[in-house]
Amino acid sequence: NEMFGQLTSGLEAAWSKLKGEEALTKENIAEPMRDIRRALLEADVSLPVVRRFVQSVSDQAVGVGLIRGVRPDQQLVKIVYDELVKLMGGEVSDLVISKSGTTVILLAGLQGVGKTTVCAKLAFYLKKLGKSCMMIAADVYRPAAIDQLKILGDQVGVTVYTEGTEVKPSQIAINGIEEARKRKIDVAIVDTAGRLQLNKTMMDELKEVKQAVNPTEVLLVVDAMTGQEAAALVTTFSIEIGITGAILTKLDGDSRGGAALSIREVSGKPIKLVGRGERMEDLEPFYPDRMAGRILG
Ligand code: GDP
Repeated sequence: NEMFGQLTSGLEAAWSKLKGEEALTKENIAEPMRDIRRALLEADVSLPVVRRFVQSVSDQAVGVGLIRGVRPDQQLVKIVYDELVKLMGGEVSDLVISKSGTTVILLAGLQGVGKTTVCAKLAFYLKKLGKSCMMIAADVYRPAAIDQLKILGDQVGVTVYTEGTEVKPSQIAINGIEEARKRKIDVAIVDTAGRLQLNKTMMDELKEVKQAVNPTEVLLVVDAMTGQEAAALVTTFSIEIGITGAILTKLDGDSRGGAALSIREVSGKPIKLVGRGERMEDLEPFYPDRMAGRILG
């Protein structure tokens, strides 16, 4: 997997400059810190995030005394690792699923980010956790999206509730959830319509659906390939709609990692799940520590 390849080698350049040093000093970390800064910017991490990150790492690096038996370069690696984990939210942020009744999850996102795929992947993921699911097709603008969801629903063995394209999305969502409650389904996932770009119609529609169904989770699906733009998008949706977290897709692509590293810090919202492929099983929780480990190679 090449996702963090460039970032990893950029950081390795930083460590290599500390070989043979006896301690971390203000002087000898200056150049490695420039390497770290450059590597993060090249990975498309948002500039304010890079600035804070580098500042925090520098402060700690000069602050710590030499730990016996640990080389200065390894010490810096450890500080960067801890900061990366912190940057990505520290802990895993689990989905909130009620113990009883039907939990409603609302999915939002721009067109093409992988939202329909995520909808089915999420249903499959929850099914494996022993939860019964129903998907509700509230994307009334693209009949193809409804067909796609039905095909994926068949594939993962999860019912898709649809009323075609003539009924209002908020009404479809309400009816679908009522049906799910009647059938004692654990989780109802509402798939909403995306647009190519942010626009008021989409936002208004999302607000209306959200108000109508009072979801436990409102998850924004974002494409990792869009880098720090993804973080900006999460912020906008967070302010406009009120989301509970993000799902980052296409982590298997050649994205440089900027989205994974920027979202939490920029938006204040956690990445809850990540998609790493087109198959239905390619969805997993977002583990900040594992991600940091992968970045450091
Ligand atoms: P939507 O318009 O947001 O509903 O997007 P779709 O779910 O239709 O996905 C758009 C394209 O991205 C499809 O070709 C998917 O197979 C692909 N896709 C979705 N998720 C992933 C992923 O995690 N990795 C890769 N490589 N492709 C994905």
